[in-house]
Amino acid sequence: MRPEVLYPLFKPVDTLKGVGPRLKPALERLAGEHVVDLLWHLPASVVDRRHQCHVADAGHGELCTMTVRVGEHIKPPNKRRPYRIVCHDDTGTLVLTFFHAHSDYLTKTLPEGELRVVSGTVEHYNNEIQMTHPDHVVKVDEIDTVLRLEPVYPLTHGVTQKVLAKAINGALAETKPMSEWHDQALMDSRKWLGWHESLMAAHEPEEASVLDPNSVQRQRLAYDELLANQLALGLVRRGMRKAKGAPNTGDGHLRQKVIDALPFALTGSQDTALSEIIADMGSDYRMLRLLQGDVGSGKTVVALLTMLAAIEDGGQAVLMAPTEILARQHLKTIEPLAEAAGVTMTILTGREKGKNRKGILEGLANGETQIAVGTHALFQDDVDFANLRMAVIDEQHRFGVHQRLELAAKGQAVDVLVMTATPIPRTLMLTAYGDMDVSRLLEKPAGRQPVDTRVFPSNKLGSIAEGVARKLDSGTRVYWVCPLVEESEKLDLAAAEDRFEDLKKMYGNRVGLVHGRMKGKEKDAVMADFKDGKIDVLVATTVIEVGVDVPEATVMVIEHAERFGLAQLHQLRGRIGRGTEASQCLLVYQGPLGEVAEKRLKIMRETEDGFVIAEEDLKLRGAGELLGTRQSGLPEFRMADLNDHADLLSVATDDAKVILESDPDLKTDRGNALRTLLYLFERDAAIKYLRSG
Ligand code: ADP
Ligand code: MG
Repeated sequence: MRPEVLYPLFKPVDTLKGVGPRLKPALERLAGEHVVDLLWHLPASVVDRRHQCHVADAGHGELCTMTVRVGEHIKPPNKRRPYRIVCHDDTGTLVLTFFHAHSDYLTKTLPEGELRVVSGTVEHYNNEIQMTHPDHVVKVDEIDTVLRLEPVYPLTHGVTQKVLAKAINGALAETKPMSEWHDQALMDSRKWLGWHESLMAAHEPEEASVLDPNSVQRQRLAYDELLANQLALGLVRRGMRKAKGAPNTGDGHLRQKVIDALPFALTGSQDTALSEIIADMGSDYRMLRLLQGDVGSGKTVVALLTMLAAIEDGGQAVLMAPTEILARQHLKTIEPLAEAAGVTMTILTGREKGKNRKGILEGLANGETQIAVGTHALFQDDVDFANLRMAVIDEQHRFGVHQRLELAAKGQAVDVLVMTATPIPRTLMLTAYGDMDVSRLLEKPAGRQPVDTRVFPSNKLGSIAEGVARKLDSGTRVYWVCPLVEESEKLDLAAAEDRFEDLKKMYGNRVGLVHGRMKGKEKDAVMADFKDGKIDVLVATTVIEVGVDVPEATVMVIEHAERFGLAQLHQLRGRIGRGTEASQCLLVYQGPLGEVAEKRLKIMRETEDGFVIAEEDLKLRGAGELLGTRQSGLPEFRMADLNDHADLLSVATDDAKVILESDPDLKTDRGNALRTLLYLFERDAAIKYLRSG
């Protein structure tokens, strides 16, 4: 249960004074729906209002805070002229000017004859010292609320600085000091203050330097969030690791049959990864392992062999892909090999319906079917397995963490192997998986040649198309990629269709089109034709991005390459260079190129190393965006920024490990405080993994 101290923080934002139905949606958009979200909305800069001066000393353009006596109000002769209020101090005259003013309001806030403190930017204009629309007007005894570093918050439409600051102050007022959850030695060595003190100081900085992401105040808050995340991951992992029904200890007879049937020998990397995975499966703990291998490194066969280890032991296994196309491709690759081993398999996607689906479910429930390949449809409630022991999840970055858990719930604590082609940089790995076990396929299958990558402006398209024609005559298969992004989907689709028509005019019936808007069956048919060589040119939107395997394809043209991200370009290019023939990738851009786009294309030309590309991508884009946080299931951080706080991340990872070793159920005083931390950052889903809830 959420600790009581946090109750007020998890109320909706409109429970705060001054936040009504008009402001609510804007605050939700800007920060989030709960009071706590406002705490995480830190100032982006400050305005220094500490400079107090006399009217005569106020320079043009200076931000000044002055105490003046209010004099005559001069109403404007017409609407275009400002309302003027003449004020004085001992040194001179200051004229406050207001456009479109409400005179009632002004007579109330600036009554003639009274002293007022005004703060704003001074202008020397027409031999007058003026201040147009002062930022603050307060009574003299309230001067301290003005004389300070004023936080400036990032805004959104429908919220002003004043209103937002008020809401945030309301949220801050709901907070109080809490028992420290950090290790005292760490606090000392970093010179960190308590949570409450740091939070207050971050919002009301006494020095501009507090805004630095690595100021002690902000660092501490970032570390809170990172530790909450790493601790939650550690808890989930530990919870999953311990609960295993039976170890998977196959005798290898099925694996041997498949290895004998393969037209190639396994690479050293594949061998190593396999033995790591098999050893893990054979242990009493449940496996939670990531198989990381660049595009084309041969993850599928590793997946199959590991699934067979579970099947040898009398179990069932599933392989889940993020898309229909990929699921069918897996079926196609695996089916003949499964057959060679005498293993029964099926596919289950959204497209299997009615009787057909019923039959498939029966086979899985009674154990007659040993391998199921499919999509998210494998998760549905009515899908039961007789003895599910192993789950492989392909192209992981499309799935969220909870989906992994859902699948795992289908079997009695099944072993889980997550495969990813995205070479996730170590920093991101840690935040997404904690210290999950990893096997890597570093080496590519033998005989692969580097892809020759070149960059062309779009006015070279004509000669590129002619070059492709010559290639086609010598039997090459070609991907022709057109971008399709959601924002401009219709236009993009039209462009892809136009390109398809153009190329058909040039190359005749050897051209096919596949795009994300097509029906599943149509897509499959086109893909199959390309795979079988019935068509040689595949015009495609990015649906081919992940996993598609046609080793005979050796040329890829990517139009509007400037619109793709690095990771995406890398994934796309990974579709070629899969056979023994030399491959070519032609990146065609529409100028003028922005600085970042130019860098991306340059990196693509220079390297094929997925890890180098991922690190460069991280540098160019920043972590949150790297994989598209939302769809990736990667955590979004509010206080931490992986560019600024990468070192804190590794400290947090170690810290979490130590905590879970010494206080696995979070029962000590510190453990208790850490529970509050998990709730504070909404990582409390992990708490259910604690024995004592
Ligand atoms: P990815 O890791 O991108 O999923 P795949 O599993 O699709 O890669 O494999 C890419 C291609 O490499 C496939 O055509 C596959 O048959 C082939 N392949 C896999 N392992 C080897 C190997 N050891 N030697 C040669 N070819 C291999
Ligand atoms: Mg694959």
